[in-house]
Amino acid sequence: MRKKIVAGNWKMNLLPEEGKKLTSEIVNMAGDEVPNDVTLVICPPYTHLESVQKLTGDQEKVFLGAQNCHTEESGAYTGEISVPMLKAIGTSYVIIGHSERREYFSETDEFLAKKTDKLLSAGLTPIFCCGESLEQREGGKYVSFVTNQISNSLFHLSEDEIKKVVIAYEPIWAIGTGLTASPEQAQEMHEAIRKHLAEKYNADVANSISILYGGSCKPGNAKELFACEDVDGGLIGGASLKSRDFVDIAKSY
Ligand code: PEP
Repeated sequence: MRKKIVAGNWKMNLLPEEGKKLTSEIVNMAGDEVPNDVTLVICPPYTHLESVQKLTGDQEKVFLGAQNCHTEESGAYTGEISVPMLKAIGTSYVIIGHSERREYFSETDEFLAKKTDKLLSAGLTPIFCCGESLEQREGGKYVSFVTNQISNSLFHLSEDEIKKVVIAYEPIWAIGTGLTASPEQAQEMHEAIRKHLAEKYNADVANSISILYGGSCKPGNAKELFACEDVDGGLIGGASLKSRDFVDIAKSY
């Protein structure tokens, strides 16, 4: 059975005290309200990782994630954070390849392949983001665009390695815009991604990888998105900044 995951990407929001308050609320509510087979991940800014870890570290439902990492272990990379640093403070998941990083920080598929390798060799779980722009969707080649992102960054991995990756399909036109992919649009892409994985690897591998949906997911639309056969949870931006909304999304299973 595939793991169901609801991950919150706080992006560059909240001061540390606000982050602690939000985390405590989520941990308290999740214990009673979120089904045991749903894993929650909180991905705060780097400056909050340790304080969030203190609040999530001794329970089994809410895990700590980071929003990015560097490919090198250490060295002259001013402003960057390495995978060993993230691991040392108890980070379990790391988002890589978010469209904002691809766009504003020119991250390439090749660079993301290296980040994936670094994370897997350290035992951390990459949440690999992919997704097309509105222009690409309207041009009709959106499926091949997304499956190429996956091939370019992940298809050098062995079967055992790729099974440890979480994929997040996030259509760029739906991120932070209030526009959500319809359940049919989400299912079409998730199914295509799974088929692509099965063609390269096999059905067992494809069926074991969690594929999350991201893009204006909120309590009002999570249920119908999560009901899609190939949708295994969500990567949540704006709605993860409110404990009630985030937990309600996680309860939508
Ligand atoms: C995101 O940036 O990963 C995201 C899904 O954002 P939002 O939910 O705000 O659209």
